[in-house]
Amino acid sequence: MLSFEIVRGDITRFPAEAIVNAANKYLEHGGGVAYAIAKAAAGNVAEYIRISKEAMREQLGKSSIEHGEVVVTPALRLERYGIRHVIHTVGPYCGGIWNEERKEKLRKAILGALKKADELGVKTIAFPAISAGIYGCPLEEVVRTFRETVEEFSKEAKSVERVYLVLYSEETYRRALKA
Ligand code: ADP
Repeated sequence: MLSFEIVRGDITRFPAEAIVNAANKYLEHGGGVAYAIAKAAAGNVAEYIRISKEAMREQLGKSSIEHGEVVVTPALRLERYGIRHVIHTVGPYCGGIWNEERKEKLRKAILGALKKADELGVKTIAFPAISAGIYGCPLEEVVRTFRETVEEFSKEAKSVERVYLVLYSEETYRRALKA
């Protein structure tokens, strides 16, 4: 059985075996949660960008990722919280507008990370609210898409047992719970 839980916290210190990064397609980690994860993991954002780009070339043989594709990097300093892997995935850009196409891109981004977590053999995985920050997708729709996608994945999950959606602020946490 798979559980899905909405929690409030900082994903850079959340004790899940895998945490997911809301990355951009070049894994540049320039702002938002991506910057926070890169800084916390490597102590130096440029260094984690270098590690991420190298991992992307090794794992996918290219220099950008599509919705649904993921790249895995080591947790480095985050290992102190029990985090073993960082899974980078790319959500859609919305700019405030939601539609079926964006929903499908987000679904792919979430599902790609869940499948990779299963492949890595982890039991717990934590997600930030992908696309609900700088990419401007409505938080409520993002939360509903998470719920539906985790439910879909629960039919095929092998090792993953618990999925957490980690909201950074009290306000987004309350809105997510309502949604
Ligand atoms: P995107 O570009 O995909 O929208 P952002 O990084 O801008 O990604 O934001 C995604 C979500 O992550 C936002 O709701 C933002 O508030 C949240 N966030 C930012 N920092 C953290 C953190 N340390 N832990 C958890 N969530 C965070």
